Amino acid sequence: MRRWNGWGEEGVVYPVPAAARAFLEAQFGPGTPPRDVDLGEAVAGIPASRLPEHPLVTTDPVERLRHCAGQSLGDWINLRGGTVPSFPDGVAYPLTEGDVRDILRYAEAVGAVVIPYGGGTSVVGHLSAPPGDRPVLTVDMRRMNGLVRLDRRDHLATFQAGVRGPELEAALRAEGFTLGHFPQSFEYSTLGGWVATRSVGQFSLGYGRIERLFVGGEVETPTGTLHLPVFPASGAGPDLREFILGSEGRMGIITLATVRVTPLPERESIHAAFFPGQEQGIAAVRDLARSSIPLVMLRLSLAEETTATLALAGHGRAVDLLDRYLALRGAGEGKSMLLYGACGSPKDVRRALGQATKIIKEHQGIPVGSMLGRIWYKNRFRAPYLRNTLWEMGYALDTLETATTWSRVSETIEAVERALRRGLEEIDERVYVFTHLSHVYPHGSSVYTTYLYRIAREPRETLRRWRVLKKAASEAIVRCGGTITHQHGVGLDHLPYLESEKSPRGIEMLRSVCRALDPRQMMNPGKLFR
Ligand SMILES: Cc1cc2nc3c(=O)[nH]c(=O)nc-3n(C[C@H](O)[C@H](O)[C@H](O)COP(=O)(O)OP(=O)(O)OC[C@H]3O[C@@H](n4cnc5c(N)ncnc54)[C@H](O)[C@@H]3O)c2cc1C
Repeated sequence: MRRWNGWGEEGVVYPVPAAARAFLEAQFGPGTPPRDVDLGEAVAGIPASRLPEHPLVTTDPVERLRHCAGQSLGDWINLRGGTVPSFPDGVAYPLTEGDVRDILRYAEAVGAVVIPYGGGTSVVGHLSAPPGDRPVLTVDMRRMNGLVRLDRRDHLATFQAGVRGPELEAALRAEGFTLGHFPQSFEYSTLGGWVATRSVGQFSLGYGRIERLFVGGEVETPTGTLHLPVFPASGAGPDLREFILGSEGRMGIITLATVRVTPLPERESIHAAFFPGQEQGIAAVRDLARSSIPLVMLRLSLAEETTATLALAGHGRAVDLLDRYLALRGAGEGKSMLLYGACGSPKDVRRALGQATKIIKEHQGIPVGSMLGRIWYKNRFRAPYLRNTLWEMGYALDTLETATTWSRVSETIEAVERALRRGLEEIDERVYVFTHLSHVYPHGSSVYTTYLYRIAREPRETLRRWRVLKKAASEAIVRCGGTITHQHGVGLDHLPYLESEKSPRGIEMLRSVCRALDPRQMMNPGKLFR
């Protein structure tokens, strides 16, 4: 059973070893485990549903609780503290495109707001029910999870959009293909959610962002079905897929999505290297991003993240040995760890990693083989479970991200980290901050920052601290000229910063497209624009 107030399956626990606990305490002092509300208390606070009956809609309070939020830290604090501001009045589970149309008609007839729901892994407040007089209906797409068509000649697959990562890959792998899209939320997130949030997977360097993989589909809107036909390329005016990518449920419900697929690679191999300092690491990934070496991933943990990763791994003796070896080779304190990976035939993988290693060495990188890459690969979807354990120890963990041009990367990292580190100075609380670069492009990179702070006794104070930190970091991103989000989307949390990026005219354009598809503004109102 999936946790209703945290990440993942109830039985799965990510233990924090004693040495890692000591490391965390040294950063901010001991945490105080919070007193969270239990399921019974949380359900008791849910008001009666305002929706009339419909065969596809449940108004069961537990279902409504399970769909009232995503996975942003604000969502967590509200769920765990019993302070969720509003709940959907019902949850619908369509099975077919016809069901979706039926649900939209019903919602329109009863004056309801509709929130499309994929895997519920949003981290920016996409799924919150807007307060107000209109009833709220969440449409959970989980039953629309089938492979509709696989075209082996064209390397295209059409899925119902509620398919989750593992279901999608299992269906493709059985036929010898992969989509190659592996966001860290892979376990639960869905194809429709990926498209609606412009998601990015861990192997984006090889397979591309979802924008490159999504080639067409169908969207049910309040004014009818929008068909997006598939072409290998087209010069026929603006590409309507671009309106659906990142539409965050505002334009309709994506029911079918056609994606490019790739024959399964024979081998995937990830190696690690260390740099004496993070600037050498940044220069190396920039050169690698500009090279034509066919890598599928580059992930550079900057100095503090390298320290945290090695400390939290809990393999004390092995890490000591590695530290001593690297110090002898000139990478002591301040070192940065790079993971770099390739997929393909054994020969292609060997060649790509060999070429990459050459560039890494030109930047004083020290290759250490594939062991750390294998550990990362094994745990790559397990890491989010750590958030549950940290919370129970009294620490809140959040992440935020941007992308910017190479000339601004270092300045942006510094500004975001500084804003977070200083964010709670006024109450004398420390914030522990670290960053990595995990999606790189010839012209720039994503910047992904993780921060931890101590949970307060009162949920409202924990929430206040989060808001202060989120605002400070978002303002730093905007000041540095970065995008407000490289991969998580806008939701409610990034809404205040969108207009400075899109311009008032750009927002008006979006508004009018939404109006054409949804004149009554019933689709996920309040997201992308007010
Ligand atoms: C632990 C963790 C790790 C993450 N790692 C990554 C990562 O590596 N890369 C990344 O890009 N993101 C990541 N995310 C963010 C999140 O997983 C993505 O935004 C994901 O694409 C959301 O998919 P979902 O199916 O869960 O959508 P939901 O969270 O259910 O919904 C997100 C938005 O999409 C809309 N939506 C969902 N389905 C449809 C549909 N069928 N039609 C229309 N609108 C729809 C919703 O209305 C909502 O506005 C992570 C989140 C967590 C919690």
